[in-house]
Amino acid sequence: MVQPTKEYAEQLDQQDALRDMKKEFYVQEGQIYLDGNSLGLMPKRAEDTLNEVIDSWKNFGIDGWSEGKYPWYYLSENLGKQVASLIGAKPEEVIVTGSTTTNLHQLAATFYRPEGKRTKILADELNFPSDIYALQSQLLLHGYDPDEHLIQVKSDDGRTIDEDKIIESMTDEVALIILPTVLYRSGQLLDIAKVTKAANERGIPIGWDGCHSVGAIPHHFHDLDVDFAYWCHYKYVNSGPGGVAGLFVHEKHLDKRPGLTGWFGSDKDRQFDMEHTFTKAHTAGAYQIGTPHIFSIAPLIGSLQLFEEAGGIEKIREKSLQQTRYMMALVEEKLMAYGFELGNPVEDERRGGHICLEHPEAAKIAKALKEQNVIPDFRAPNVLRVAPIAFYTSYADIYEAVERLQSIMEKETYKAFPNERGTIA
Ligand SMILES: *Cc1c(COP(=O)(O)O)cnc(C)c1O
Repeated sequence: MVQPTKEYAEQLDQQDALRDMKKEFYVQEGQIYLDGNSLGLMPKRAEDTLNEVIDSWKNFGIDGWSEGKYPWYYLSENLGKQVASLIGAKPEEVIVTGSTTTNLHQLAATFYRPEGKRTKILADELNFPSDIYALQSQLLLHGYDPDEHLIQVKSDDGRTIDEDKIIESMTDEVALIILPTVLYRSGQLLDIAKVTKAANERGIPIGWDGCHSVGAIPHHFHDLDVDFAYWCHYKYVNSGPGGVAGLFVHEKHLDKRPGLTGWFGSDKDRQFDMEHTFTKAHTAGAYQIGTPHIFSIAPLIGSLQLFEEAGGIEKIREKSLQQTRYMMALVEEKLMAYGFELGNPVEDERRGGHICLEHPEAAKIAKALKEQNVIPDFRAPNVLRVAPIAFYTSYADIYEAVERLQSIMEKETYKAFPNERGTIA
């Protein structure tokens, strides 16, 4: 049984096989960082590998593409093979490239093939805005009006999306489905298996945005027959601001010509033939466009080592679930009296890596928390997201964070702060 006590936190910390991983990160003294779902803290290893890659530029110049510890020419493919273990993919199905949004553009350009009355894109009304903007522009590029051709499944409670409603919306007018694995506000983990199966049965290609789950939750994209997926690495994978993203294309599609082609999508042995006929790679590498952003990839080399050393993504998920379970128990015990509501699903199989605390004065409370050296994030108008990170948040940190929050509420110190969000929230 979960106990909302300090003793329970101490006991869990003692039993925690991952507790020493915290030393691998730059954690500010006295600070409790609960924003790793927005930007993961810096692993010391990521700093090391970035420096090593900088050294190869220093020492090898152009030959850094083929020389040095991490030859740049193969870096995206090699890291893709490692990321494959986080998402349940075959090594050749994953490439490290682009950003979340550009990868969605690339994949929509490939998989959105309107034909006859099958012209619509199915999404949901709670997804991250960038995904929606990308889909709107893909429709416009094909000459369709997004107001008519982008179907966004409604939420009943403003927090979650009902999978059955998604499935009901998979009509014979739908040409493509794009959904988030985990909703960025409430942290709802969708039933990826069920929804993917329904899409497959109807012959509609389906792609998942894994930004809020990759690095926190294991996936089985290959076995579930997911058509494609895309995600960033700067959240739960700790690869740094603007770190290069990832994409997955199921092997059954690897003979397709990508919608947007460029020379880095070439078969690697043929790329430097410099022909005007595109000879595509036979891997997800074909979805690359131009020269990879090597210095924004380099930290990922180090970040991924830590997943391996932790014993894999299953171990991370196990701890993360135990941490959010403990945190919810503390919230129930200590915060409900102050007008908070839990916005996230409470079941393990429907919960992502963060807890969603709703409060009408969340903007003020977020500022008061920061002043107390607890870093949450705020999503207007009323959401505080708090994410204990298996790598660097201890159970004692969780207890202490909730204590500081309770004290802010009890003393009403939050009232002194303006109820507005900053430019970045
Ligand atoms: C973080 C996030 C993004 C961000 O996209 P970028 O191209 O990396 O800026 C997009 N979609 C979702 C669901 C996200 O959580």
